Amino acid sequence: MSAAVRSLSSRLARFAAYECTADLSHLSTHERTAITKLVKAGKLFDQIYLRQAWSGNEALQKKLQQQGSKEQVLLFDMYKGPWAIEDDNVPFIDGVPQRPEGGNFYPEDMTKDEFESWLQTLDGPQQAQAKSFYTVIRRKDDGSLHTIPFSQEYKDLLTSASEYMRAAAEDLKKVEKSADQKGTSIDEFLSSRAAAFESNDYVPSELDWLRLGKFNKLEVTAGPYEVYTDAMLGYKSAYEFYVHVRDEHSSQLLEKFSDLQFVEDRLPIPENYRNKELVAAPIVVVNQLYSGGDVAVPMTAAYNLPNDEEAIRQGGSKLVLIKNVQEGKFEHVLTPIAQQVLAKEQLKYLTSEAFTTHILLHEVCHSNGPHHTLDGHTVRSKLQEFHSAIEEAKADIAGLFAAHLLVNHGTIDNVKSEEFWVTFLASAFRSIRFGIQEAHGLGQACQLNYLIEKGGFVCDPSSKLFSVNFDKIESAVSDLTRDILILQGDGDKQAVADFVKRYGQIEKDTKAALDRIEDAGIPVDIRPIYPIEKEL
Ligand code: ZN
Repeated sequence: MSAAVRSLSSRLARFAAYECTADLSHLSTHERTAITKLVKAGKLFDQIYLRQAWSGNEALQKKLQQQGSKEQVLLFDMYKGPWAIEDDNVPFIDGVPQRPEGGNFYPEDMTKDEFESWLQTLDGPQQAQAKSFYTVIRRKDDGSLHTIPFSQEYKDLLTSASEYMRAAAEDLKKVEKSADQKGTSIDEFLSSRAAAFESNDYVPSELDWLRLGKFNKLEVTAGPYEVYTDAMLGYKSAYEFYVHVRDEHSSQLLEKFSDLQFVEDRLPIPENYRNKELVAAPIVVVNQLYSGGDVAVPMTAAYNLPNDEEAIRQGGSKLVLIKNVQEGKFEHVLTPIAQQVLAKEQLKYLTSEAFTTHILLHEVCHSNGPHHTLDGHTVRSKLQEFHSAIEEAKADIAGLFAAHLLVNHGTIDNVKSEEFWVTFLASAFRSIRFGIQEAHGLGQACQLNYLIEKGGFVCDPSSKLFSVNFDKIESAVSDLTRDILILQGDGDKQAVADFVKRYGQIEKDTKAALDRIEDAGIPVDIRPIYPIEKEL
């Protein structure tokens, strides 16, 4: 296969370089020393992931470092391999094969059928091992298949990573503790996680991660999690690694938003549609200092973990929002998009605080509104393939509704409603830029068209620029919030299909705006530069 229709430099230019860092002035020397050790562990997770994704990755990386161009090395590091992920996995280096469907989790010549028929020969526990998140499948000398635990397959790298994590835990043990701390301390988690890398038993440390106390200034995520690299069977998990520092300001905001009842009581819906069993989702807001392993572009701005069903059953799950990554996307992607689509006089209302605060409200508001239909089914089971798009639209619009409510109530005092509305309008174009096949994009298209129909957003017929009509937006947002919550509470799939058919389109003015965004060559996302690496 020949490398790349795009040139290396144009491929690189699609991702704006972003210095991913945070204020560390409140950290102790012990915490800083621990971070340097964690970064060293992170580099080992890069190596593990390269090995998991393709058997040829490590050799190719070495070759590129010795004789490749600077751009090839940068792209390889950015994509964690020789394929452009966001571009149908096209290889950008000559001579590499197609991306192996099953990564390097299975023998390269193994087919799905061979795996399935091998499974039939195994007893229950052996089958569970073969399908486990945490094993690879290899061939014995006689050609038959067998299972090897990650702890053995990646022993060389996992042992060193565990040593760095234990050393970091030793530093963090020395951090002065406050009297009233609730939850697991970060040093306990790092120790139990290091043990999991050696025992291959991940559940106990997953529970420690879920219970990490708010008093910890650092938040570390490390382990085998997502199964996308195993595109053949979706069983095998890839190692990823994040070093984060908690964002204190957002944690205080979250605290203020935790009164879900206040918003629920004021949603513009009839009483019988209100959620009577409000359960707040655990959320933590952080800033990223370093990442490694199965972490590439586009940059992840939020993740919900764990994926291990047994760990979820015992401990639930936790959402991590990465604020500085969101700010990077705001600066390098949303701001230039806004300059193409927004009326000039409203650009002053585009703010990073409105963007990140609305993301926070979006996540909080997933808990609001009906999760069950009036006749007692789950909304998901009734709306089926429409559920994701409608649920994302619900979180978006209820979050925008809540923003204005909380500004009026004085809970939010650093962002004005005008900033929320205008930033939301610009953000819609960022979400639908790559189409409406996916839940977020489709949900955003529905909202944009609805709010235009109600006069809350307008497109100037001559300039073709969009703006918010501040006289109409409040009632338009309220109406849309009501309509979507009622669609969910009724669970009438046909009504939802009609709604999506009517509003889930890209209209002429929107299409023209999207074309301007493409013509302007605005980056599709950001790629991280981690200043902390240079401090080592
Ligand atoms: Zn969401």
